Amino acid sequence: MNYKISKAAASLSPSLTLAIDAKAKAMKAAGEDVVGFGAGEPDFDTPQHIKDAAAKALAAGFTKYTPSSGIPELREAIAEKFKRENGLNYKPSQVIVSCGGKHSCFNVIMATCEAGDEVIIPAPYWLSYPEMVKLAGAKPVVLQTSDKTEFKVTPLQLRAAITPNTRLFILNSPSNPTGSVYSPDEVKALGDICVEKNVLIMSDEIYEQLLYDNAKVRSVAGFSPEHQAHTVIVHGFAKAWSMTGWRLGFLAAPEPIARAIDAVQSHSTSNPTSFAQKGGVAALTGPQDHLPKWLAEFDKRRRFAHQKLNSIPGISCVNARGAFYLFPNISETRLKSSDFCAKLLEAEKVAAVPGIAFGADDYVRLSYATSMANIEKGLERIERFCRSLA
Ligand SMILES: *Cc1c(COP(=O)(O)O)cnc(C)c1O
Repeated sequence: MNYKISKAAASLSPSLTLAIDAKAKAMKAAGEDVVGFGAGEPDFDTPQHIKDAAAKALAAGFTKYTPSSGIPELREAIAEKFKRENGLNYKPSQVIVSCGGKHSCFNVIMATCEAGDEVIIPAPYWLSYPEMVKLAGAKPVVLQTSDKTEFKVTPLQLRAAITPNTRLFILNSPSNPTGSVYSPDEVKALGDICVEKNVLIMSDEIYEQLLYDNAKVRSVAGFSPEHQAHTVIVHGFAKAWSMTGWRLGFLAAPEPIARAIDAVQSHSTSNPTSFAQKGGVAALTGPQDHLPKWLAEFDKRRRFAHQKLNSIPGISCVNARGAFYLFPNISETRLKSSDFCAKLLEAEKVAAVPGIAFGADDYVRLSYATSMANIEKGLERIERFCRSLA
């Protein structure tokens, strides 16, 4: 059989973060002492009251199809969250619950982009954005940034990249992979341009709650009704509630886009898992006291790792203000990021993700969603590795 693979599917690169993670886990399973900095998820357990709510729903037989875009109770709780925490008014009909934040992103791109469209993506980017854009048949337009600007795209860069074909601008703050956070003024400046040029913004705010050094975030949708009308906010339960495996995310969009996404979702996945949605309600309406504890722990690790990395020859690292990643510059080692990571795993059994996966070959991504003991051990090994290169 001569299998035909669609052009769109054949154009995709496999997820490098998942590949490295799989290799490190296989080495670990084989009894090797691997230190993993690859994790894209918090190392804390989902808070108990959230698990209890889902377990109770499961036991009560809440196991059937729900409305495709989510149960009304959860869509209302999400609209309430946007009101309470972001000062944003959304009707529950503008809120779509999906099978993860990634799925929300996918739905936005599928519902708004097609062949001939351009999507502006600042690099370093979350690696799935350009692949989703290609799947929709549209063209990713990548704007390079560097550690010199804390990986932030400038209004000048954005304005110069917009053409009559620009359909979407993707903004992710706090950022995966850099941990960079745009200030409210910086977000507004980018949003103003999109309003002026009539470009839709997909604002991926999944790390909204994970902030350090008194960093402040403001959603681009919040600056005016016009800004809100040009924005789709993507969010989810994976990071701030440590629910990666639950596959539960959400978005808030202008009504016509929400309707289109509802149609896309109803013909692809249908509803996210029924009892997981009950967990989502508990996550939003229950106590949030887990978060300060997690943030204190992340912050301790971030400070330690940032300082240690900058003491290693060949490495320099700007600090992150959000999420749980550091994105050190390794260009002085003269290794490409994939060589650096392959050799590091080989020589020192340390797993990091090559920056090339995020469109930035001079860097590697280290996740500090792992224990302090692991971070200490892993950074000692990275230091030994870098000294061996000198
Ligand atoms: C983790 C993450 C998501 C969503 O992840 P899900 O597990 O699908 O909820 C979305 N965007 C970014 C940038 C992420 O890092």
